[in-house]
Amino acid sequence: MPNKDYYDILGIERGADDKEIHSAYRRRARELHPDRNKHDPKAEDKFKELGEAYRILSDPQKRRQYDMFGSVGGDYAPPPGWSGARYDFGEPFAPEDFGYSQGFDFDALFDDILSRMPRRGGFRNVRMTYERGSDIEVELPLTVEDLFKSATRQIRIAVTRRCEGCEGEGRISGAVCRECSGTGKVTRRKAYKINVPPGLGHGDVIRLAGQGNPSPGGMGAAGDLLVRLKVKPHPRYRVSGRDLEVDIRVPDYQAALGGKVEVEAPTGKLSLNLPAGIASGTKLKVRGQGLPRRGGGYGNLLVNVVVWVPENLTPEQKELYRKLRDTQK
Ligand SMILES: [Zn+2]
Repeated sequence: MPNKDYYDILGIERGADDKEIHSAYRRRARELHPDRNKHDPKAEDKFKELGEAYRILSDPQKRRQYDMFGSVGGDYAPPPGWSGARYDFGEPFAPEDFGYSQGFDFDALFDDILSRMPRRGGFRNVRMTYERGSDIEVELPLTVEDLFKSATRQIRIAVTRRCEGCEGEGRISGAVCRECSGTGKVTRRKAYKINVPPGLGHGDVIRLAGQGNPSPGGMGAAGDLLVRLKVKPHPRYRVSGRDLEVDIRVPDYQAALGGKVEVEAPTGKLSLNLPAGIASGTKLKVRGQGLPRRGGGYGNLLVNVVVWVPENLTPEQKELYRKLRDTQK
């Protein structure tokens, strides 16, 4: 076997660290995979060679030996006094080990390779590669009126992914990656149309599976996108679960006498029969005039009675109040 430059095969500098070696191997393995190079009769050899280069350089001990002698398995002159040198490199990875001929799955390939890799040195980031991406949580503001119908809203989020151009390294062959300006990450804005069916309310979450942040190492599952509904404050209604609360202002004499009052419900004006002698702060429940419930039906409308005392009375009104006062004695 002629001398081979494993660094050349991987396309890395001689001083490359473990991370660079790993990253370069992944990149080159994709490029050189025989399935992608069917026209090239040497594809399989190149792929084997790559596996061999990786196997040697990713093992600190073997790499040291290789660095010392410049080659393995070829003609080398052991240093004076060196004897009994043994190079147990084993068999380089053969493409058939990866079953590429039976349909190919790159994740399975790397799974396989990583499971065979020596655990010492250089693979601290292996566990990281399969880590699930984090969830992205956004708020979707809606009005009370939106909750009565099926609302479709567009939201835009920024998702930061590992840069594919440089495999997250920020550099390609020593040069700053143009795609990510050397940060190793790219941020893309993505728009989603979110359909909010009636029945959802404040605090409810719509989960878009797999639309969150990607796996930090690029191989695990992506996180989810969580869209949390936020009902905006309404000038008239207060929201409590699926109930709505509304104030009605009633002058004191009407509170005393009772009678019909008009209330603005979300569906239109309602006529309400006020019982006589109602106190301020009394809540009247109007069933089924609240927000839609999940699974059908509606919450209630709570009518909060606010009794007010008229100001700026006319002389005639003043006289009537005086009479009223005198009857209390
Ligand atoms: Zn990049």
